[in-house]
Amino acid sequence: MIELQNVTRVYSSGSDEVRALDDISLSVGAGEFVSVTGPSGCGKSTLLNLLGGLDHPTSGSIHVAGVPLHCAGEKELTRYRRHTLGIVFQFFNLLPAMTVRENVELPLLLRGESSTDARVSEMIDLVGLSRRASHFPHQLSGGEMQRAAIARALAGSPKLLLADEPTGNLDSANAEHVCETLLKIASQKIVTLVIVTHSEQVASLAPARIQMLDGKILTHDKISSRSL
Ligand code: ADP
Repeated sequence: MIELQNVTRVYSSGSDEVRALDDISLSVGAGEFVSVTGPSGCGKSTLLNLLGGLDHPTSGSIHVAGVPLHCAGEKELTRYRRHTLGIVFQFFNLLPAMTVRENVELPLLLRGESSTDARVSEMIDLVGLSRRASHFPHQLSGGEMQRAAIARALAGSPKLLLADEPTGNLDSANAEHVCETLLKIASQKIVTLVIVTHSEQVASLAPARIQMLDGKILTHDKISSRSL
């Protein structure tokens, strides 16, 4: 599902060069759940941006679901972001004037789908928000907002779900609920899940763990025996 070959991303400003990613190779299979951790500045966001098709590597190749992101043009990248990718952010990014249901439906409407009801209900049910579907974001707890954001990210049946610090703005009880939801999604293997996090609680949920340091992958452990 994800193949990175010798990926380097260098940022240059004046005579300074920062190797945000330094010759990274990585392979993640379909349906895998991977967490990425590492100290601030080690390259996690750069990696997410590349996987999200928001940035190109300086060298190397990146394929996600067969799409060559390293050389894709703007049209192909827009299609990739709409159809192959779902993203969950630290600050939820829900539209405040729309209900949970409308927020979840929006990406489907944006790509021109008309019969969305069943899919939207299925996703809201999956994240355990059926009784909150007609609520607005300000009527929800942080954990509920994040679960709504997860439902929205999954609505378009992406192949890859990227989550950037999904519990970074939540207290421990709400973080726990979001973790349970992520585990449920991972166990159903409906999507490949890559989570960047500072939280040991979240990182340890994932059967595959990547630890980064100074733009490199320090360790990539897979616990094959772990049952979700
Ligand atoms: P992390 O997400 O792990 O904190 P980043 O991927 O944001 O790390 O950053 C990796 C390195 O690249 C850091 O040294 C950072 O300062 C540098 N960097 C990130 N984005 C830019 C940019 N747009 N311009 C210059 N340097 C950058």
